Amino acid sequence: MLALQPLLTRPALQVDLAEVDVMLVTHFHLDHCAAVPYVTGHTSFRGRVLMTHPTKAIVHTLLRDFVKVSRGGTGAVWGR
Ligand SMILES: [Zn+2]
Repeated sequence: MLALQPLLTRPALQVDLAEVDVMLVTHFHLDHCAAVPYVTGHTSFRGRVLMTHPTKAIVHTLLRDFVKVSRGGTGAVWGR
Protein backbone atom coordinates (compact mmCIF):
# COMPACT_ATOMS: atom_id res chain seq x y z
CA MET A 1 0.00 0.00 0.00
CA LEU A 2 2.75 2.39 0.82
CA ALA A 3 4.06 2.54 -2.73
CA LEU A 4 0.95 1.41 -4.58
CA GLN A 5 -1.83 3.57 -3.15
CA PRO A 6 -0.77 6.86 -4.80
CA LEU A 7 -0.75 5.09 -8.17
CA LEU A 8 -4.23 3.66 -7.65
CA THR A 9 -5.79 6.99 -6.75
CA ARG A 10 -4.39 9.05 -9.63
CA PRO A 11 -7.16 9.40 -12.22
CA ALA A 12 -4.85 8.91 -15.21
CA LEU A 13 -3.37 5.73 -13.72
CA GLN A 14 -6.42 4.07 -12.21
CA VAL A 15 -6.36 0.34 -12.51
CA ASP A 16 -9.37 -1.95 -12.25
CA LEU A 17 -7.88 -4.47 -9.85
CA ALA A 18 -10.72 -6.90 -10.57
CA GLU A 19 -9.09 -7.32 -13.99
CA VAL A 20 -5.61 -8.04 -12.60
CA ASP A 21 -4.75 -11.75 -12.45
CA VAL A 22 -1.42 -11.70 -10.60
CA MET A 23 0.36 -9.53 -8.04
CA LEU A 24 4.11 -10.19 -8.06
CA VAL A 25 5.95 -9.22 -4.88
CA THR A 26 9.54 -8.90 -6.03
CA HIS A 27 11.11 -8.90 -2.57
CA PHE A 28 10.34 -8.45 1.10
CA HIS A 29 11.06 -4.76 1.64
CA LEU A 30 8.03 -3.06 3.15
CA ASP A 31 7.66 -0.70 0.22
CA HIS A 32 6.81 -3.80 -1.80
CA CYS A 33 5.15 -6.34 0.52
CA ALA A 34 3.20 -3.94 2.76
CA ALA A 35 0.65 -3.43 -0.01
CA VAL A 36 -0.43 -7.07 -0.01
CA PRO A 37 -2.91 -6.89 2.93
CA TYR A 38 -4.45 -3.69 1.55
CA VAL A 39 -4.81 -4.94 -2.01
CA THR A 40 -6.14 -8.38 -1.03
CA GLY A 41 -8.39 -7.12 1.76
CA HIS A 42 -9.63 -3.73 0.65
CA THR A 43 -9.78 -3.71 -3.14
CA SER A 44 -11.51 -5.71 -5.86
CA PHE A 45 -8.30 -7.68 -6.54
CA ARG A 46 -9.02 -11.44 -6.55
CA GLY A 47 -5.94 -12.66 -8.37
CA ARG A 48 -2.99 -14.67 -7.17
CA VAL A 49 -0.13 -13.23 -5.11
CA LEU A 50 3.25 -14.59 -6.16
CA MET A 51 6.58 -14.17 -4.36
CA THR A 52 9.81 -16.05 -3.90
CA HIS A 53 10.10 -18.66 -1.16
CA PRO A 54 12.51 -16.47 0.90
CA THR A 55 10.07 -13.57 0.67
CA LYS A 56 7.14 -15.78 1.67
CA ALA A 57 9.16 -17.09 4.62
CA ILE A 58 9.66 -13.62 6.10
CA VAL A 59 6.72 -11.53 4.89
CA HIS A 60 4.33 -12.33 7.76
CA THR A 61 6.99 -11.55 10.35
CA LEU A 62 7.79 -8.25 8.67
CA LEU A 63 4.15 -7.23 8.39
CA ARG A 64 3.41 -8.14 12.02
CA ASP A 65 6.44 -6.15 13.14
CA PHE A 66 5.42 -3.23 10.91
CA VAL A 67 1.93 -3.16 12.46
CA LYS A 68 3.33 -3.50 15.98
CA VAL A 69 5.81 -0.67 15.49
CA SER A 70 3.15 1.48 13.79
CA ARG A 71 0.96 1.09 16.85
CA GLY A 72 3.74 2.12 19.20
CA GLY A 73 4.98 -1.37 19.96
CA THR A 74 2.00 -2.38 22.10
CA GLY A 75 -1.52 -3.51 21.58
CA ALA A 76 -3.23 -5.86 19.20
CA VAL A 77 -1.82 -7.08 15.92
CA TRP A 78 -4.13 -7.85 12.98
CA GLY A 79 -7.32 -6.96 14.80
CA ARG A 80 -6.76 -9.21 17.79
ZN1 LIG B 1 13.08 -2.87 -2.04
